[in-house]
Amino acid sequence: MSKTIFQKIIDHEIPADIVFEDDRCLAFRDVSPQAPTHVLVIPKKPIPSVDALGEEDAELLGHLWLVIRQVAEQLELTNGYRVVANCGADAGQEVPHLHFHLLGGRSMTWPPG
Ligand code: AMP
Repeated sequence: MSKTIFQKIIDHEIPADIVFEDDRCLAFRDVSPQAPTHVLVIPKKPIPSVDALGEEDAELLGHLWLVIRQVAEQLELTNGYRVVANCGADAGQEVPHLHFHLLGGRSMTWPPG
């Protein structure tokens, strides 16, 4: 199977504006930002989507949420932020590698489109 664009970023084969990295995950700025701050937080493990998560991923998921909180603090999103995970066609998921959108820097409306 060919590598996803995010796997190529994890493997440092293509450039990305990385704001955080550790042994289990990576956070980098979205190329098409939908807010003044728009970062993607992804596991290095190649999980295709929320639907593909298993019990064995529980600890990794907890870690990802703590990284999201840490990156939000690092990027000074002191007035709040939104975290989004698109899953599957109806949600408009484009890249089949689990990712959390961290959006901030402006006020947002609800419901989303
Ligand atoms: P989704 O629609 O939830 O699958 O989101 C995929 C996101 O990946 C979109 O917001 C894209 O703008 C973003 N994206 C695609 N390619 C890249 C890339 N090379 N570097 C950073 N972000 C990307």
